[in-house]
Amino acid sequence: MPLTPGVHWFSPTLPLHVFDADEPGPTALVQAGIHGDEVAGVHALQELLEEEIRPTHGRLIVVPVMNPPAYRARQRMVPGGLDLNRCFPGDAEAPERERRLARRFMDLVEDERPALMVTLHESHKRYDPAVVPSFGQTIVVGVEPRPAIVDRVLARLNERFTGEGEHWDPQYYPVATSSTEVIVDAIGCVGLCIETWMGFEEARRIEMQRAVVEYLLDDVGVRRI
Ligand SMILES: [Zn+2]
Repeated sequence: MPLTPGVHWFSPTLPLHVFDADEPGPTALVQAGIHGDEVAGVHALQELLEEEIRPTHGRLIVVPVMNPPAYRARQRMVPGGLDLNRCFPGDAEAPERERRLARRFMDLVEDERPALMVTLHESHKRYDPAVVPSFGQTIVVGVEPRPAIVDRVLARLNERFTGEGEHWDPQYYPVATSSTEVIVDAIGCVGLCIETWMGFEEARRIEMQRAVVEYLLDDVGVRRI
């Protein structure tokens, strides 16, 4: 069953915020902090929540920190733990916290059926087509052809972020066990990974992550600006 609006707390360790608009529309789900050392997306979503971001149409679900203990450790995964982004679709009975959490998250997306699922990441390496893998400053998709929303949002980003190295590109890079791929396969939504490059100051990365989220929500029609 879909969630009621408000703040929810999934066990183990998953805080999420659910907002409904007065007008009908699609559901968008935005999550960050699945890797604990990639902080710009976490801080972007926290800022948007503090500024009381709300949908104008449909439903907006925000998960600002997918893996709180890894975030507190500022490490990709909890020391001694698993990479949460490689634990999907998860297992409710697993001994590992990450596998149980992945399963709980899968239950959420299967109940909510978002039209758009966005995961905010960061990367140490700036994207270079000659260097595989490299992700910084890309919107990563696991399907071909890529959804048209990607190109529209990239055009807006590249109009705004014009400093050295700030250019954004699309990237096709499927990862079979990532949360995005598994969720896209399960419910047929648009699933995107956003990757800022850690070579920039944190404040600039937060600004970029916020812009991506705002442009995506606008384009999908959940928060028209
Ligand atoms: Zn990541």
